[in-house]
Amino acid sequence: MDCWQQTHAARENPASVDQTSSYPGKLLLLKETRMSAEIIDGKAIAKEIQAEIKTLVANFVDETNCKPVLAAVLVGDDPASQVYVRNKERACKRVGIESQLHRMSADSTTEDVLQKVVSLNTNPEVNGILVQLPLPPEVDEQLVLDAVNPDKDVDAFHPTNVGLISQGRPRYLPCTPHGIVQMLFRSGVQTTGKRVCVIGRSDIVGKPMAMMLAQKNCALGSAMANATVTLCHSRTQGLAEIASSCDILIAAIGKPNFVTAEMIKPGAVVIDVGINRTEDGLVGDVDFEAASEVASKITPVPGGVGPLTVTMLLSNTLAAAQYQTEHSFGASAV
Ligand code: NDP
Repeated sequence: MDCWQQTHAARENPASVDQTSSYPGKLLLLKETRMSAEIIDGKAIAKEIQAEIKTLVANFVDETNCKPVLAAVLVGDDPASQVYVRNKERACKRVGIESQLHRMSADSTTEDVLQKVVSLNTNPEVNGILVQLPLPPEVDEQLVLDAVNPDKDVDAFHPTNVGLISQGRPRYLPCTPHGIVQMLFRSGVQTTGKRVCVIGRSDIVGKPMAMMLAQKNCALGSAMANATVTLCHSRTQGLAEIASSCDILIAAIGKPNFVTAEMIKPGAVVIDVGINRTEDGLVGDVDFEAASEVASKITPVPGGVGPLTVTMLLSNTLAAAQYQTEHSFGASAV
């Protein structure tokens, strides 16, 4: 076989390559084409953290005789939102957190949703409030999110909480970026001194992710902060060049298979936040198979970041109950 045939055969079926061939690049070639990245198992990490939260919730109940309560507001009947809310309810149950579901019809007005949020803000039994997004287009999402009491803002979307995060003294961390830091930590990946490329600048994922990793410290220690972060978006020039120079690549774009192998530095850690529904099922923002041949560690979709997002919501609900107990309000009697 000539060089090209070797390459092609190895890609199609590594075992088909003539092992006795004297082609000098053979070993290197086989090494390069083999799927090598370690999979970061989000489900397993989420299970581990949920077991820890369950113990902490039980301790909290023992100490206070109160159960943490998460109230979810679901407006309309978006099928994906129904699934997300159901998953959150199940996760609450697993760790001993009480969940409430407040369903509102699709024709609810901004005023209706604001009234619901205000009633939950003032309800001492409720520790955490989650407004499931997206809201129907007629409802002013920003007004609603701003109305959530920052002490009960377990999504960490309120400007007060965003400001605290930016100043490096967070009360609650946004669930997806927090889950990603936990995944990196529990997979033995430190961020200090590393170059990190975050693709996507949403308020939910990209922006807080960049902000958190650029801090001097975090609850897991300075090794999980102190990164040199480049935050990329749709107007970024030379995106592939930036991405391929980074030790950690975090993709939160919402475009199937956007990140190709050429955009990944050999040995980099790749975190795929994307959830895209395609004819082939759920896929991420990263071309998983090609990326696995270049990266050292990679998250799958599904089973990667998703389970951590739900898990960190539980962690924030417990934190909210603890905070409110210390400040003498909230937490419902068992
Ligand atoms: P948004 O749509 O709010 O943001 C997408 C970002 O990607 C924007 O900043 C946009 O840039 C950027 N972008 C779009 N096209 C390009 C491009 N060609 N080049 C570079 N940047 C580009 O998305 P979210 O952050 O809310 O979500 C991103 C993905 O993550 C989605 O698939 C979502 O479903 C998923 N997700 C998964 C979660 C999980 O738990 N696993 C949780 C939350 C989200 P610009 O700002 O310039 O428009």
